Amino acid sequence: MLDRDDSAVQAQWARIRGRLREEFGEAAFRTWLKPVTLKDVRGGVVRLAVPTKFMREWVETNYLDRLRVLWTGENGNVRTIDIAIESALARAGAAEPGPEATAAPVEPAETGDEMVVDRGDFAGRLDPRFTFENFVVGKPNELAHAAARRVAEATTVPFNPLFLYGGVGLGKTHLMHAIAWHVRRREPSKRVIYLSAEKFMFQFVKAVRFKDTMAFKEQFRSVDLLMIDDVQFLCGKDSTQEEFFYTFNALVDQNRQIVISADKSPSDLEGLEERMRSRLGWGLVADIHPTTYELRLGILQTKAEQLGVAVPGKVVEFLAHKITSNVRELEGALNRISAHASLVGRPITIETAQEVLHDLLRANDRRITIEEIQKRVAEHFSIRMADMHSARRARAVARPRQVAMYLCKQLTPRSLPEIGRKFGGRDHTTVMHAVRKIEELRASDPNLSEDIELLRRMLET
Ligand code: ADP
Ligand code: MG
Repeated sequence: MLDRDDSAVQAQWARIRGRLREEFGEAAFRTWLKPVTLKDVRGGVVRLAVPTKFMREWVETNYLDRLRVLWTGENGNVRTIDIAIESALARAGAAEPGPEATAAPVEPAETGDEMVVDRGDFAGRLDPRFTFENFVVGKPNELAHAAARRVAEATTVPFNPLFLYGGVGLGKTHLMHAIAWHVRRREPSKRVIYLSAEKFMFQFVKAVRFKDTMAFKEQFRSVDLLMIDDVQFLCGKDSTQEEFFYTFNALVDQNRQIVISADKSPSDLEGLEERMRSRLGWGLVADIHPTTYELRLGILQTKAEQLGVAVPGKVVEFLAHKITSNVRELEGALNRISAHASLVGRPITIETAQEVLHDLLRANDRRITIEEIQKRVAEHFSIRMADMHSARRARAVARPRQVAMYLCKQLTPRSLPEIGRKFGGRDHTTVMHAVRKIEELRASDPNLSEDIELLRRMLET
């Protein structure tokens, strides 16, 4: 406790806090310094308290020197700063100056739309279709699936955090909901929160605006499993990142499970603070690869069965072959053709599928890359891939290189300068020259013309 007569000490602490806020900025102050409370000053020792072990380490590493200097400036007798860990609850009862001292609500704050807390409102917010039973496992997602199952079934935290990443529509959200469903069924007393990073930020900003960050923190305090979806959204949003980092560390400290998803790996997420990036990679990082033909086939068969529509094998194969972007589009295609079939009352055929899905099919037209073209052409003419980039001008390599440039122009939407760059940083006029040259030669050289046709067919299938 502070000595009763020590209102001078309280005034000193208030001034020091003011200085810290000025020096380190609002965000850092709010996250790291505001939660620091003053216990007492006695015999040259300033005793401070923070709510978690992690915070103590953080404050000691980053702010202790400054705290010491500021305290000595206020009070020449101060020799040592001592930081203890004291939970927010204990603090709420302690006599402490400042309005925030008593503001430690134990009740979780109101939850947002997408937030799922394991109480009465839990079920409504999770998609009932996103369960492990409905998840089709294949090579591209087997690691992510196994890791998610592990987290859902574990009695002790197996790895922290579980970081799932992959492109859109590949099943990240599905797996997170599946974990939540599983835990809920098996251990209904566990508290689970699932929310998007966007929602997290929205709630945080709202809490700051209404000066209610304590309540914001409190709602995560007693969570057993926290899942935050699409954290790439936090990139570049510094103060939200700080808050997330704080929550994250507090939970890891208490050995609570965290599951994160993003569209890229921690090391590829730009606009993320370094400490955050490295922290995210500490547990298990599992990526979901783009779908394979086999997985698409499996997903289509499973979903057709669930929909109760008979889709001929040929049509399933056609779709699996043509719709390669992601699972969401694959599902969309199936829904559309089955809706169409039931409306017009005609059986599903490849022709009707083509008709009904013409826009989707066009968008999914296979995109050929420059690298693929270079590789194929190099193989075809038995030259090294490196010669696509090299400066060698011998005709044996120069001609195939020109063919590759020509095919890049024909088969990809890339511009001449872009193509030039991928061929060892050549100028766009070089590419233009190559395209003209090959067009000319094709007209007079049937062998070359045949080679090019063959290559084109190989690349396009
Ligand atoms: P992401 O969050 O990665 O963008 P979602 O989890 O929202 O993707 O998945 C998009 C859609 O595809 C959802 O309807 C989901 O149920 C479905 N889906 C994705 N992967 C699979 C899978 N392996 N098996 C079954 N359905 C899947
Ligand atoms: Mg998602």
